[in-house]
Amino acid sequence: MSVQHKTLEELTVYLESSVGSKEEELIEEHLAECDECISSLDFLNSLKRGLKEFKAHSQTFVKKGLSLHLTNDEIRRYINDACNEDEKRRICPHLAGCDKCFHDVIAIEKVVEQLEFEEKVTKGISILSKFIISYPTRASTLEKEGKELIREAVRNCIAPFLIGRAFSYSFKGPEILDEGVGKEYRKMETDDFAIEIVQPSGIESNVIIGVLAKSDLKNAKVTICAEEEKSEIISLENRRAVINKENLQAETIRYIKIEKM
Ligand SMILES: [Zn+2]
Ligand SMILES: [Zn+2]
Repeated sequence: MSVQHKTLEELTVYLESSVGSKEEELIEEHLAECDECISSLDFLNSLKRGLKEFKAHSQTFVKKGLSLHLTNDEIRRYINDACNEDEKRRICPHLAGCDKCFHDVIAIEKVVEQLEFEEKVTKGISILSKFIISYPTRASTLEKEGKELIREAVRNCIAPFLIGRAFSYSFKGPEILDEGVGKEYRKMETDDFAIEIVQPSGIESNVIIGVLAKSDLKNAKVTICAEEEKSEIISLENRRAVINKENLQAETIRYIKIEKM
């Protein structure tokens, strides 16, 4: 009769769990009469101890400032699997000892994957905007995706201000205008429109949005998305329109979509 040995997965679960269960009893019965599985268990145990020591050692290095936090460039190369051996020797122990960088890497990997499979431009903009708000210092790790998204957005009549600001792309500002005109001034262009945002000094809760159509138009549909989308129809005079928005802050505007009508 052939013996059904325990798999490494089963033995790992057995090692990790402390509560007694039916499966555990069965494994123990098997271990009592199988040297082969006992030696697998020994191997797993020493591996676990080794990893624990490696982690503790790495944590000490990070705490003492001997292992510096990962740069955005290092993280991106690590995610792209483009690190050479020297880089791996630095990056892997750091990730084992630094929760902060570890969680940053996980968050970035998640966004890369989400953007890869997201087909709707506005959804992509929301995903990346949320990431930039939560991890402002890590924004440049997603510069490639950001710039691709901007190009695609612009073709779809969408000006993604928050992302444009992060990557200084097709985008002017933030600038301090003279004479206290605006605290922030930004401009982005889509294929059909130029859109400007001004945050007036002294009234930080208000935003003035300027629209300039590149062709003769009477009306346009404007959708502004900060937390959520809001649409309205505007009429243009000499191809221009000015929209005043109360209770809106320039830096929260994820995108403005303007469609010809
Ligand atoms: Zn066995
Ligand atoms: Zn770190």
